Amino acid sequence: MQSITDLRSDTVTKPTQAMLQAMFAAPVGDDVYEEDPTVNALEAKTAAMFGMEAGLFCPSGTMTNQIAIKAHTQPLTEVICDITSHIYQYEGGGIMFNSGASVALVHGERGKMTPEQVAAHIRPDNIHYPPTKLVSLENTCNKGGGAFYTLDEIAAISAVCKENSLALHLDGARVFNALVASGDDARQYGLYFDSISVCLSKGLGTPVGSVLLGNRDFIKYSRRVRKALGGGMRQAGYLAAAGIYALDNNISRLEEDHHKAKLLEEALLQTNYVESVLPVQTNIVIFKLNHKYNDAAFINTLGEQNIKASAFGPQMIRFVTHLDVTDEMLDHTINVLKSL
Ligand SMILES: *Cc1c(COP(=O)(O)O)cnc(C)c1O
Repeated sequence: MQSITDLRSDTVTKPTQAMLQAMFAAPVGDDVYEEDPTVNALEAKTAAMFGMEAGLFCPSGTMTNQIAIKAHTQPLTEVICDITSHIYQYEGGGIMFNSGASVALVHGERGKMTPEQVAAHIRPDNIHYPPTKLVSLENTCNKGGGAFYTLDEIAAISAVCKENSLALHLDGARVFNALVASGDDARQYGLYFDSISVCLSKGLGTPVGSVLLGNRDFIKYSRRVRKALGGGMRQAGYLAAAGIYALDNNISRLEEDHHKAKLLEEALLQTNYVESVLPVQTNIVIFKLNHKYNDAAFINTLGEQNIKASAFGPQMIRFVTHLDVTDEMLDHTINVLKSL
């Protein structure tokens, strides 16, 4: 039987033998006592990469984002983010539930806000409005089809935040895809962001985990919030070891995922059933079908050829490339796309 080509998400990857070996070999301790050497090493390593003081290993990117929002806001204050943001769309309403904060939604371009848009959404000091506390960016932008902010664009938004005493958070679920595509230096991110969430379980290919980065006081408080949310883990070093392995081995290869996504885009543009494709910039391909297929029928048709994809709104489909998509799987997918 043909193996399954799973293009639904870059979360579907399974650890390689080498990653599993690193996990088995990890020295561990109780991380709630801050005594797990592998967790401590992962936190320090990730913080250093981004020019930040400290890190906190958490079970998911939703948790790192939600802890950051909690730490930067109080109830009755407001967060500015793009309307397509994961923190708003895909975290189960967690901002309201965990932080009691309001959200000002910006209609950006492919998930990206301009400094002018951010400035225009800052509330004046008036009892009718929730005071703005936090701006949150996503890099790359998932619903924006993998579009990314460059460091210059980030610097300009950071300047608006500093002028208005607002914190700036980064949902960096795919920050390494942005860094590989832009060529920007990760260490410079520390100059502009007050907190960064880095996912290890997306393109980096670990089974579990995200790291929240910030200054020492921020991480100290975030550790309390993590405990209160039930995210304090014990011998988590086995999981952190996968993260260290991924940071050492799986970053530069993201270029291959970007190349595969480009090839999918090219194939789609040659078909007679695709109305448009969001120009591919990283590892996400979002496209719109014309009347020939509806989205459910298209997903079904691919499924019959052992290809999995995600429905992403009316007539919209998403493919995500990742390290478990082999050259053979890509060729198979392109042949199927051409045959429909
Ligand atoms: C996947 C993802 C997250 C975190 O998701 P978890 O499944 O909770 O780890 C956060 N932001 C974006 C943009 C994502 O794609």
